[in-house]
Amino acid sequence: MKLTFAGAAEMVTGSCFHVEAGGRQVLVDCGMFQGLPEVEERNYEPFPFEPRDIDWVLLSHAHLDHLGLIPRLVREGFRGKIASTVPTKEIARIMLMDAAKVQEEEENGPLYTADDATVALDRFQLTGEYGETLPLGNGMEAVFHDAGHILGAAFVELRVEGKTLVFSGDLGNRGKPLVEDPSYPPKADVVVLESTYGDRVHRPAEESVEALHQALVETFEAGGNVIIPSFALERTQEVLYILFKLWRQGELPRCRIFLDSPLATAATKIFDKFADRFPEPARKLFRKKRDPFDFELLEYTLTRQASKRIPVDDGRCIIIAGSGMCTGGRVLHHLRRQLPQPNSSVVFVGFQAVGTLGREISEGALKVEVMGSIVPVRCRIWKIDGLSAHADQPILTDWALNADPGQVYLVHGEEAGLATLAKKLSDHGVASRIPRWQESVSV
Ligand SMILES: [Zn+2]
Repeated sequence: MKLTFAGAAEMVTGSCFHVEAGGRQVLVDCGMFQGLPEVEERNYEPFPFEPRDIDWVLLSHAHLDHLGLIPRLVREGFRGKIASTVPTKEIARIMLMDAAKVQEEEENGPLYTADDATVALDRFQLTGEYGETLPLGNGMEAVFHDAGHILGAAFVELRVEGKTLVFSGDLGNRGKPLVEDPSYPPKADVVVLESTYGDRVHRPAEESVEALHQALVETFEAGGNVIIPSFALERTQEVLYILFKLWRQGELPRCRIFLDSPLATAATKIFDKFADRFPEPARKLFRKKRDPFDFELLEYTLTRQASKRIPVDDGRCIIIAGSGMCTGGRVLHHLRRQLPQPNSSVVFVGFQAVGTLGREISEGALKVEVMGSIVPVRCRIWKIDGLSAHADQPILTDWALNADPGQVYLVHGEEAGLATLAKKLSDHGVASRIPRWQESVSV
């Protein structure tokens, strides 16, 4: 059996693993490379396999860096099937159509079009619940297990030629309000493990809620607005859930909340639909029709006109908008207006990658370029890093040790995360390797 690391090798994006065994070819994920220009160039490089020979794509979850190249795979001849969990299939629809729209506006020519994305969505032909065994033909079987992380996210168990391979996908943090803790893996011959926070220990979530609360109180006392750049999936819904809880407890200062992101709005509708999959106590709230996604302070601004009518001149507005790292989207308009206002705040609730506007602002730049104009940064900047949707080092290590693995391949991490996690695993007597991009190993 041959395993090829077609992405997420020595970096956090472009997840794609190719398995060739028993006369079948399977991909686990087919994600987009994101970030610095030299990383994004890889989206245009030939795949290290023949797309038309791929029988299955097993999709761990619907983040772009895990599914964003599926339409390109289709464009280049993929005729196989895609398997995922039920929520992932639904989220994939909005993510791929949104990605195709972005591609069609791409100056250097699109990687794919909306037509390719539509064909790709037709290939989602098999769904499985967590724990269900899915036959892939020729004796090959796959099982999706609950990875936490975001709604529908799975880690993938692949059984072939008498061996068990486990691909972690993105593993979630513990104690999150809208997803369960990640389940433990079965005994595995090979584990392909994400290492995003392989060198970090997260601070408790309560500290983050308290920091957000403090940012709101201080900003509104000063008469300003709060801009929260947010990822459309999970983070936005989690922030809404926190705001709803603060409001219910009478701790939220007088304000209006605007969710100013069509993609996040579409995602929130899907979350609403799968509310019975939330852990307690969130599930109980929804059963009682106390809906954190629909309460009196919250308004959805769907059109550009509605977005422009947000009454920022009055202050006391919380505006949640994408993109999460300020690389595009409506958040740019809000930043252009609010960054120069000393009484307003920008609150970062997620990871800001190198090279993004979000990283620049969060690292204290005094002026930045937003949509072609130079804007002074006079507002307050808050960084809240305890809301991570990713497992930290103790969770990753504990999880991997539970698989009692013969071999671990560390992927989906930057240099420090990979190296530190490798050391940690070796302290526990587990051998690991950090594969290079497009490297193949035999299993
Ligand atoms: Zn993810």
